[in-house]
Amino acid sequence: MPAQWLIGNWKMNGSMDSNAALLTEIRQVSGSAKMAVAVPHPYLSQARDALSGSEVQVSAQNLSAFEKGAYTGEVSALMLCEFGVKLALVGHSERRHLFGESDEVVAAKTIAALNARLTPVVCVGETLTEREAGNAKEVVLRQLNAVIDGIGAERLSRCILAYEPVWAIGTGKTASPEQAQEVHGWLREIAVQSGAAGVSILYGGSVKANNAAEMFAQPDVNGGLIGGASLDANEFIAIYQALC
Ligand code: 13P
Repeated sequence: MPAQWLIGNWKMNGSMDSNAALLTEIRQVSGSAKMAVAVPHPYLSQARDALSGSEVQVSAQNLSAFEKGAYTGEVSALMLCEFGVKLALVGHSERRHLFGESDEVVAAKTIAALNARLTPVVCVGETLTEREAGNAKEVVLRQLNAVIDGIGAERLSRCILAYEPVWAIGTGKTASPEQAQEVHGWLREIAVQSGAAGVSILYGGSVKANNAAEMFAQPDVNGGLIGGASLDANEFIAIYQALC
């Protein structure tokens, strides 16, 4: 059985004060599902300290594909490990579309994460144009296969996958549970072929407390990657309770 995960992606939000309040509330959750928060790099040590002794893990939102050296502004996987980070998002659509990360770069970042024993949360998802052109399957499988080609099928079971349709991110327009399940089913098929049937596949895109339960009831939806709603402790905890 795939592990159930709820991961909050704060994106570029937060302050020392607002983080402290949010972390104090979420560190108290307990339940059968795993939880992590992906915080901006400067807040990693704050999150590690505030969550110490709790079940909630710290994730990075990004990492460098390179190990070390003359890469101004980059943060390596080993640096993240020094701050207690256990997971790292890779290939989030904002990285792909706003910062030009190609499938090859995403694959290289996934390799860097795995080599440092971080769990990569590999994000895939199609744009509205791609969906309307009937290309959703081709796009998400291309994105996933590029990662598998890079890391080798035998390491897929050490990843978490996340399906985030670009048209559903921050738009208030979530995929229907049936649409999500269809895509998760395609991803599961590739995972099974890669010997990673038990990989967790999360859904992300406008998940809120009032639509989470029906999404999580889908057989291949093993949790959520939550943006906006992860900044509100009550909402995030309510989503977690819908998963447990
Ligand atoms: P929203 O939940 O704000 O739509 O964001 C989803 C997301 O991008 C999480 O990584």
